[in-house]
Amino acid sequence: MQFDLAIIGAGPAGLSMVRALAGSGLRIALVEQQAAAALADPAFDGREIALSQRSLRLMRESGLLDRIPADQVFPLENAAVFNGDTPRPMRVLPLRGQDALGALAANHLIRRAAWDAVQGQDGLTLLDQTRLSSARYVDDGVEIGLVPSDPASGVAPRTLQTRLLIAADSRFSDTRRLMGIGADSHDFGKTMLVCRMHHEQQHHHTAWEWFGHGQTLALLPLSEHLSSVVLTLPQREMQALLALPDDAFEQDIARRFQHRLGEMRRAGSRHSYPLVGVYAQRFAAARFALIGDAAVGMHPVTAHGFNFGLHSVDLLSREILGAVRAGGDIAAPERLQRYAQAHRRATWPLYMATQAIATLYTNDSGPARLVRRLALDASSRIAPLRLAIAAALSEDGLSLRGLLPPALRSPVRV
Ligand SMILES: Cc1cc2nc3c(=O)[nH]c(=O)nc-3n(C[C@H](O)[C@H](O)[C@H](O)COP(=O)(O)OP(=O)(O)OC[C@H]3O[C@@H](n4cnc5c(N)ncnc54)[C@H](O)[C@@H]3O)c2cc1C
Repeated sequence: MQFDLAIIGAGPAGLSMVRALAGSGLRIALVEQQAAAALADPAFDGREIALSQRSLRLMRESGLLDRIPADQVFPLENAAVFNGDTPRPMRVLPLRGQDALGALAANHLIRRAAWDAVQGQDGLTLLDQTRLSSARYVDDGVEIGLVPSDPASGVAPRTLQTRLLIAADSRFSDTRRLMGIGADSHDFGKTMLVCRMHHEQQHHHTAWEWFGHGQTLALLPLSEHLSSVVLTLPQREMQALLALPDDAFEQDIARRFQHRLGEMRRAGSRHSYPLVGVYAQRFAAARFALIGDAAVGMHPVTAHGFNFGLHSVDLLSREILGAVRAGGDIAAPERLQRYAQAHRRATWPLYMATQAIATLYTNDSGPARLVRRLALDASSRIAPLRLAIAAALSEDGLSLRGLLPPALRSPVRV
């Protein structure tokens, strides 16, 4: 089997990559461990994805946004950041000329839309229930070995050759490891709960980020009186919370919000995620590139994981399409390096800033409390800082770079 491209992982990043290459004439193998039926109808996983204005534009252009029911895309008009018990939050408003910071859509709906968008795409072969088992360089390409993800599935092992291999198989990417690329990872030692809840008071389409003492709370506004509650706690406390019966769970959440939203009722299933940030040491090697979480797995506090995933797809697909138009090699080293450098430049500052925020704002020691109060006070008073935060939220954090010390501004490795 001969392909131009093999993409490992049919998550939102892998599928968006396939879609971005529609009409290119390239033969693409999409390798995924799950069954096609599960990809076509992904289950609700509790994640509400805050999409930046840039991501909304990219999804509109690629036809993904139109495939999500309009009443399931919720405007994110502004954000309020609370620190401890300080009553006055820092407000983050949209940039001039924009009516919202972005919008929220459920992850499973994004996955379904991306799946729908690639159905029947010329040149695409889906190899589902399949995992990558080996890779070796051959003339002008990579030969990869594939095995069934479930031995009972009846899927036969096979070998294929590709000119370019792309890893889109999550932050714990096996493909990345197989190709000899390491990743710096940071385990925050905390777990995040996500759960849709009805509440008495209105949210006015404002997202809340509340760095309380001993917990971090967020509220992602969906339809009227419906939000996604996001709560970060140490695992042992989370286990106890997850085990509570509904009544006690609802009361506990309302109490954590200091009853600011009135009574709260569970409106969806509870989901929890361990918090681990991952940054690949390289985004490209010979005939190989990483996209999505396989390149940058963000802590969700700044809501940029999939936004960065789309950014990687946009950059890399432009390089590939440029090569196709020029009749050149889609895996030319200079093209892959250009992609790697640009994506690293765009993501490294916000990755570092997110690590710092997640660490500082979950540290309850006296000095940390003081620093976070000063930081938020400064951000509220200094208009350019507030503007930069709004720009970061709406435009993928590119403008945050200027706020960081020079040592953090440029990528360490490319
Ligand atoms: C609680 C939470 C909230 C979040 N909120 C936001 C937000 O507000 N905004 C935002 O932008 N992002 C957010 N994110 C991040 C976002 O969900 C991820 O960035 C995004 O899902 C990553 O997509 P991906 O395709 O790179 O990886 P994944 O979604 O992890 O998909 C990887 C795919 O690869 C497949 N796979 C894995 N290993 C193999 C293998 N060995 N062989 C074959 N297939 C394989 C998997 O089955 C899967 O289909 C959030 C994440 C969490 C956990």
